[in-house]
Amino acid sequence: MRWSRAFAECRKFSARPGHMESKQLYQEVILDHNRKPRNWGRLADASHKAEGLNPLCGDHIWVSLKLDDERVQSIAFEGEGCAICKASSSMMTTNVKGKTVAEAEQLVREFRDMATGKLDIAGEPNHLGRLTVFAGVRDLPSRVKCAILPWHTLHAALHSESVVSTEGDQDPVAVAS
Ligand code: ZN
Repeated sequence: MRWSRAFAECRKFSARPGHMESKQLYQEVILDHNRKPRNWGRLADASHKAEGLNPLCGDHIWVSLKLDDERVQSIAFEGEGCAICKASSSMMTTNVKGKTVAEAEQLVREFRDMATGKLDIAGEPNHLGRLTVFAGVRDLPSRVKCAILPWHTLHAALHSESVVSTEGDQDPVAVAS
């Protein structure tokens, strides 16, 4: 079980001193979404889909969605990877469902900027809400791409790119810096 092995690694996550509450919330969210991933599967009637790879960790996911009048009517994901990738994918689907393409793209940018440390979630306005539980990954360089992968794959799907990787010239972390 790759998910459970990866979860054991996640428990090494250490928030900065004084952030015990956010650390606990982070662990609860990761655990919950790994037990019960939301919107798991592939849409038979998808209008957009993409495959995302994070070779550094071995995360490999598929995101499919159906746009109706520039709005994400339905979205699903499946694949394999670590607990952070799975939880981030699950939360990505629940957060963009019902949003317009422009709103979804804004979340893609804000999530990427938060995970890479470019966006200060406490001091700058953003629309991330509960997604801010992933803010701590910026202190875990090897995990940043696990958290970003589903958002990177969503972006690719919306732009009708079929396969996207977190390495090479598509590297979302390099783009953000
Ligand atoms: Zn991963």
